[in-house]
This record gives sequence, structure tokens and C-alpha cells, in this order.
Amino acid sequence: MRYQRSSALFAEARQYIPGGVNSPVRAFKAVGGTPVFVKEAKGAYFFDEDGNRYIDYIASWGPLILGHAYAPVIDAITEKAQKGTSFGMPTTIETQLAKLAVAMVPNIDKIRFVNSGTEACMSAVRLARGFSGKEKIIKFAGCYHGHADAFLIQAGSGAVTFGSPNSPGVTQGTAKDTLLAAYNDLDSVSTLAKANKGEIAAVIIEPVAGNMGCIPPAEGFLEGLRALCDREGILLIFDEVMTGFRLGQGGAQEVLGIKADILCFGKVIGGGLPVGAFAARDEIMKHLAPEGPVYQAGTLSGNPLAMSAGLAMLGELHRYPEVFQRLAEKTEYLHKGMQKVLDARGIAYQINRFGSMISLHFTEGPVVDFHSAAKGNNASFKKYFHGMLDRGIYLPPSAFESYFLNDALSYEDLDQTVAALEETLKEWK
Ligand SMILES: *Cc1c(COP(=O)(O)O)cnc(C)c1O
Repeated sequence: MRYQRSSALFAEARQYIPGGVNSPVRAFKAVGGTPVFVKEAKGAYFFDEDGNRYIDYIASWGPLILGHAYAPVIDAITEKAQKGTSFGMPTTIETQLAKLAVAMVPNIDKIRFVNSGTEACMSAVRLARGFSGKEKIIKFAGCYHGHADAFLIQAGSGAVTFGSPNSPGVTQGTAKDTLLAAYNDLDSVSTLAKANKGEIAAVIIEPVAGNMGCIPPAEGFLEGLRALCDREGILLIFDEVMTGFRLGQGGAQEVLGIKADILCFGKVIGGGLPVGAFAARDEIMKHLAPEGPVYQAGTLSGNPLAMSAGLAMLGELHRYPEVFQRLAEKTEYLHKGMQKVLDARGIAYQINRFGSMISLHFTEGPVVDFHSAAKGNNASFKKYFHGMLDRGIYLPPSAFESYFLNDALSYEDLDQTVAALEETLKEWK
């Protein structure tokens, strides 16, 4: 049996860990079946505990943009570990990573490191509130900004997969300060801004949405949002946890040519170790403790191992900026291959793509927001997911997630993926 050991390991994990996992989407609830337990990984592939090999399209949900066990990152961590793993005191490597990030990302003067994307977004909103003296925020249905209370209001990804967009445990008091707009719908934002005039601290958005599948911003949408924020004195927060250091050196801001006021990072910036960060111009950042009154802290923030992984990763991306274009080309190649196979079968589908982010939706109409993403046929998605999995192609186990291509993927891997799709679809009537 292909997943025998994984099944046994999952059963054991479930005895000690809620649902057997430490982050819900890993449990395969949306697609059914047994999650595969990873044994090891290298480059574009990982191997499960049963010895099956997979071509990996999630790359740890984005961080491993250069592939698994990337030598410069592994070397940096290994060397650092010999010298002590945590101090709770300043080290030079924090400044080095901050300096490099500030050089790569447009429009920021200072950056504060935290331990996850969740922490980054949570702290960014606190900073926006502290800076502006206002309390409400606007978020978009289907956008995910981590699992802090203020964001679990129609969040994408796992939260949507589980059909509990408003998690129990989030208080009414918190929920009333989070206003919900529709992605790619500027009117929905204007309406909220009008009804809550002078009360909105910030709008937080994924500049290219990746937690309801991949949904690029419509022409003029972000420009309109920027103008609206300027008009109303609202801070614009770009949550670039997914897009930062993935769409380009300077992330979505650079690629789309739009300036945000506060930026959130995670995933790639940690090179596969737990790192998040938030950044802004000095005028805003100086409100943060210890310089200013907005409190934010962390025992393991700026941890030397995490910083060394991040520094090695960003260093590579800075030295070899052609990687972003190369990844986008691979993603386009995959898109075209999948398109050809799907068209030949006459299946209703939609493929969305931006840079190295791509997603396939089993629906007729365009997927431009949470509402249209939710129209996807989940029964088809399940069949597709498992058909691919059985052929050694690991896709995100939820229709509400983007795939993340990594640079270790070869054109041969992409061809194999398209061939697996063709085989999978043959089984459909
Ligand atoms: C992954 C993600 C987060 C949360 O990051 P964690 O490190 O999982 O806490 C926040 N925002 C976006 C856009 C993400 O993709």
C-alpha cells in the first residue's frame, strides 16, 4: 500500500496532537485521505516515510523558493548553530539582514523581525492603530493574514477550507473593528470608508491574493485603493508574506509599481526557518517600542539561526535576480501545458497565475474574488488532487491555496506534472 507508513504515523500523531497536525491544512480535511509524512527533501523533490518521491509544488508554502535543502542556506545555518542558538541579546546578523531587506524592498527605512507572518501582520495593525490613533481596519474576504483574532473574519486558506470563517474564540468586540470588503471591488471599500469616516486606521491586503487560490489584482484596483487611502488618511498595509521576495526582489510593490505604507513579510524572508517581519518608513516605525510607545517584543525574535537562513536566502536572491523571471517562465510553461490537457478534455476550469504563483479552479467563470473562488467544484478538486498525489505530484491539499514554484523544478519535472494531469483526467468520465 502506497501510504501505509504515513497512515500509521498519522494515527499515532492524532493520539497526541489535535488532528495529528500543527497547522490545519496539513491534515487533508478538504481533500480526504491520509496526509503523507515527509522523511526528507532535496531540490524540487521530497520523499515520504513510505519511500515515495514527489515533485513538490508547495515548497513549505512558499519559503523554499530555491528548492529544498538549498546548500548556501544549509551551510549558513550549520555554521551558525555551532556558535550558539539563541542569546536574547543583539547580534550583528540582525543588522545585516535588516540592511539587505531595506536595500531590496522599495519604500521602507526600517524593519522589525518577528517569528511568523501572523506576528508580522498582527504587529503591523497594532502599529497602524498606534500611529493613527484610529481603531478600525478593512480587510478583504478571502485574504489571509495569519491567525490573530482581528483577521479571522472571512479569512482564506485553512479557515475557509474548514467552513468556519469566523472562528469561535474571536470576540464580537474584536470582530466589530474588522470591516470586510470584496477583493477587486473598490466600491466595496469606498462604501466602508464613507460609513466609517475618520475611524479607519488601515486597509490590509494581499497585493496578489494567494489564500483563495491565486488571484491577481484587477487593472487599476490597487491604484484606486492607494488613492482612496490617501484621500481618507488611511494607512495601506501590503501583506507581502507570500509575495515578498517571490514576485521580485522588491515584492509586489516593485512589480506592480504601488507604494504601501506598512509591509508585512514572512515565508521567503526566513529561508525555511521561522521568520516574519514588518517594515515602513521611519516616520511610522519610530512609534514602535523602545523608540515609541507601541509595544512589540519577542524572546526568539532575530534568532541567529533564523537570521542566518534569511540572510543566505535573500543574499542569493539579491545576487541572482534573474531567478524571478526564470520562475515566472516556468510557471507560464506549466500553465500552458495544463491548459492544453484540460482543453482537450473539455473540462470547465480557470487557471490564475502571477509570477511563480498559480492555481487551478474547476469553475466556468473568472475567479476574481472570494465569491467566485468559492464556486469551484470541490469534488473535482479532490479527484484531481488525489490523482496527482498518486502519481507523485504534491499540490496544495485545498482549492483555496496557490502553488508555489521553486527554482529547483526542471522543465522535465513540469512535463512530468502535465503528463500526470493527462493520466489523472483519463480516469474521469
Ligand atoms: C502565510 C501567510 C501569513 C501567515 O504567516 P505564518 O508564518 O503562517 O503565520 C500571513 N499572510 C499571508 C499573505 C500568508 O500567505
